Amino acid sequence: MIRLAIQSKGRLNEDSLKLLRDAGIGVDDAKRKFLGKAENFPLEVLYLRDDDIPGVVADGAADIGIVGLNEVAETGAAVETVRKLAFGHCRLSLAVPKTVFPAPEDFFPAWLQGKSIATSYPRILRKYLDESGIDAEIREIRGSVEIAPAAGIADAIFDIVSSGGTLVSNGLVEVASVLRSEAVLIARPGLPAEKQALLERILFRFDAALESRGKKYLLMNIPTDRLQEAFSLLQAMRSPTVMPLAIPGWSSVHSVVEEASLWQTVERLKAIGAEGILVLNVDKIID
Ligand code: ATP
Ligand code: MG
Repeated sequence: MIRLAIQSKGRLNEDSLKLLRDAGIGVDDAKRKFLGKAENFPLEVLYLRDDDIPGVVADGAADIGIVGLNEVAETGAAVETVRKLAFGHCRLSLAVPKTVFPAPEDFFPAWLQGKSIATSYPRILRKYLDESGIDAEIREIRGSVEIAPAAGIADAIFDIVSSGGTLVSNGLVEVASVLRSEAVLIARPGLPAEKQALLERILFRFDAALESRGKKYLLMNIPTDRLQEAFSLLQAMRSPTVMPLAIPGWSSVHSVVEEASLWQTVERLKAIGAEGILVLNVDKIID
């Protein structure tokens, strides 16, 4: 049995459960218990606040966890980051009132000298200030950091940014991005062999599920004399699969493509005579 800690509710909860489901590990989230058990895998799920996940994994109450890299860095917990999971993207940034610096280019770090900065990430901020040689006061607050300057609590803020919309609506300008974050799978170093073997099985499944994200399977018929042009448009895993059609002069081509460039690829394939194009979902890619 291996125990995984995930966020009980919040921005990472749904994507964490989806990754487990995509890995064929069914956990009942409906009841939102503190501790749940997977139906078909020797795994227990511990539902926690994200701040508590790195520490709980380091202490051994859970063996592995899914949490933002920002929390791993802030807690400084003794855990190993075993996989980046490609969701929960955000960054920790320094932002200042627009009234002081209308544009990011106007900002100069020395302005921070002797000022106060509100944040929920004092440890990461301290490191950044020390490295930048800035002597500023850190005001630790738990939530609603973005209102601190307008409320007269601090001169600047250091907080999580994703789109930047929250900053704009609070009259703030992002002037330095300090840490890029995404959800990661963490583990306690030196897991016993039985748990390590389960972690390897989970990683194998996560990799297959993550690898297939953003990918589509494309099938089409194409005049055989245009095959070389089609190959140059398709960046398949190794090389596209080609099968002759019953009609002479035509071939069927199969390939995996990036969803991001799907329509562009399809338009170019049509331009070289591709017909009967099918686009299918890719569920898993197992290398
Ligand atoms: P908890 O109650 O579990 O402590 P929380 O309020 O601290 O939740 P959430 O807002 O649910 O945290 O965010 C969890 C994590 O999601 C963040 O630590 C960060 O890694 C990630 N994240 C991604 N995008 C954003 C965003 N736009 N704002 C906040 N967090 C984000
Ligand atoms: Mg939290």
